[in-house]
Amino acid sequence: MGKLYVVGIGPGGLEHMTIKAKEVILNSEIIVGYTKYIKLIEPLIEGKEVYATGMKGEVERCKKALELSKNKTVAIVSTGDSGIYGMAGLIYELKKDEQIEVIPGLTAATAAASLLGSPLMHDNCNISLSDLMTPYEKIKKRVDMASDADFVISLYNPRSNGRPEYLKECLDIIKKYRKGTTPVGLVKNALRAGEEVIISTLDTFDYQNSDMLSIVIIGNSQSYIKDGKIVTPRGYSIKYEGEV
Ligand code: SAH
Repeated sequence: MGKLYVVGIGPGGLEHMTIKAKEVILNSEIIVGYTKYIKLIEPLIEGKEVYATGMKGEVERCKKALELSKNKTVAIVSTGDSGIYGMAGLIYELKKDEQIEVIPGLTAATAAASLLGSPLMHDNCNISLSDLMTPYEKIKKRVDMASDADFVISLYNPRSNGRPEYLKECLDIIKKYRKGTTPVGLVKNALRAGEEVIISTLDTFDYQNSDMLSIVIIGNSQSYIKDGKIVTPRGYSIKYEGEV
């Protein structure tokens, strides 16, 4: 009897993968994943059978992984956490009687947050701007209501060639509720090769710098920039008297 591990490999750099994720990949007979992500873990999978598919091959990939796992130990990999815009959802939707175990990973929002300071220190939410499976009207509604509710917002899939202006439009919605000095962190390739970190504000943010390799984090009404980092206060009663 085989088993399917649904593994979050973290943001990219091997040192940011959990020990458990590494162990499971090393012990799996077959590795399934998106070609680009398979490349990130190449040093761990030498000599293993690999089933890699291109972007948008998700359903096919998950079906294959489930089928192979009937007799073999298989790892299907996602970047970050497989339960956050990763493969865990589809696997559970498609599964019949296969044995499944999800191995969590460090998601892009927390990876980026570690580089930006402490932006996620209060209630926060993730919103994907990809409209491949969610109508844009619903995305905008979520952005609107999350802004109204004063959540710190992490925008996944912020900008692609097919929808170059969604990010700007969503930031305009956020601006209805938050002041122009609200910090905005853009991290491209967090904790992997090509890392870039830009901290600005709703007024100064240049949305054209972001792409599908980036995540954008917008602070709440209390967030501020201190010594080049974004701070979202947890609420302890201390007073910071510097730049706000
Ligand atoms: N399962 C992944 C998310 C996949 S959706 C996770 O938990 O992180 C793909 C989006 O995630 C990208 O468009 C980008 O917005 C974000 N992302 C993933 N890895 C990233 C990284 N290392 N740096 C910045 N953003 C990243």
